[in-house]
Amino acid sequence: MAEGDPGEHPVRLSLMMNSNGNGSHRIVVKARQDGQGTRDLVGHTPYDPQAVGMILQNARDALFDCYFERDESGIVTDTQRDGPPAFNDKNGKSLAQFKRDLGTLAIQGSALFSLAFDHVKTEGSGLTSATWQRELLKTLRESAIIQITRVSSANYVFPWSLVYEYPLITAERNEWRVCQIVNEEWAQDGTRKLPDGEMHKRCKYHDESWHKKNVICPYGFWGLKHIIEEPQSIQDSPTVADVGRRVYFADKLDLAVSITEDPALVNKIATHLGNMARLPDIRFVTPQPATGWKSLRPNLKAPEIVYFLCHGEADETNALDSAYLSIGARDDDPDHRIYAVGTLGAWIRDLVDGPDTDAWAHQRPLVFINGCHTNGLRPGHIVSFASAFASLGACGVLGTEVRVPISVATEVAESFFSKIAPPQQMTVGDALRQLRWELANKGNVLGLAYSLYGLADLRVETDPAGP
Ligand SMILES: [Zn+2]
Repeated sequence: MAEGDPGEHPVRLSLMMNSNGNGSHRIVVKARQDGQGTRDLVGHTPYDPQAVGMILQNARDALFDCYFERDESGIVTDTQRDGPPAFNDKNGKSLAQFKRDLGTLAIQGSALFSLAFDHVKTEGSGLTSATWQRELLKTLRESAIIQITRVSSANYVFPWSLVYEYPLITAERNEWRVCQIVNEEWAQDGTRKLPDGEMHKRCKYHDESWHKKNVICPYGFWGLKHIIEEPQSIQDSPTVADVGRRVYFADKLDLAVSITEDPALVNKIATHLGNMARLPDIRFVTPQPATGWKSLRPNLKAPEIVYFLCHGEADETNALDSAYLSIGARDDDPDHRIYAVGTLGAWIRDLVDGPDTDAWAHQRPLVFINGCHTNGLRPGHIVSFASAFASLGACGVLGTEVRVPISVATEVAESFFSKIAPPQQMTVGDALRQLRWELANKGNVLGLAYSLYGLADLRVETDPAGP
């Protein structure tokens, strides 16, 4: 954490995605240990974004496949992918399927942990890499805030929420087992028998010897155990001093909404918008959501909350600026495509129809990019939108890293907005962690598909300079 932090927001582990500008990358790790006689752990790990592409892709594919039914070995076949989703009408999955999803994701998440920390070089601590890793795990014994920053030239992402902290030893694969907590607390239909939102600082079996390795436990995933924040600094040297923590709003929380008009989703989206309109203290900026850039643009002039329920796509003919958000009809009309650079970047410099930069800098809007049924977005794409909005002063962007089915995407949005709006005004970090558990409490792991590009203690607040 930066010097001078007010302390309401203790960061236990900070990771900086670094780049020296000529293709060499590393992740710089700082872990803060509590108590007397302990010290800060500093280390760095070499990182080649190109070489790890396959591991990241596998992790994303595993998450994406949680939409479907897995066979006993955790595999989703093409036939299953063509068939109906494995979710029931409440977005839940059976206990058997939940366990298979957890197991498959844990394997990927364990590989991500190795990638980030196995080759760590310790700096001046006198610790071997192995000792250092053990100290790191001790540091993360209980639920904590993990902060990820990146220098602006390190424009790549890592699915931190999927990182899995219990070692899975490949040679002992037959001995891997699902943690007892899953059998005790989840019923056969996949619903958790405890009250909604039950979260603990760690698994209650964390200290049992059988839980030290080869265990598949929901608390092993960083996205469920911890709160992960990825503030988008607008300076090149990562510091969170310039990252906003408050979205200011006037009497009600105004949402600038834009949607896809994909015919397959239109009914579900209509129901969703009806549910959203009934949330107290939320108001749509226009009665009808925008379905094109020209109609959306005036609503982005000085927004409080910007909400895209869209497809994220990639335009293969446009290598430099390929990612776009598809709103309105899914066609070639440029009005239906919002590119990070070509649309947002150019609009920011537009002195006639562009943003009210003073209002953005003051209100620090929050942007939610809810990408449903999205095949096109690739790692890093969402970051390009996050940095475009951050350059305007947005204090946070919440976005999806893989496709999320519409029924889950709309549930997530309704839950998220009801938590952050008055009267709850929960911090965005808490809201995200809680909604991940709401899904996990019915056997659904897709909450891990959402990433927060902003500080965890970000929340909405009445504008002190308001009317
Ligand atoms: Zn456990």
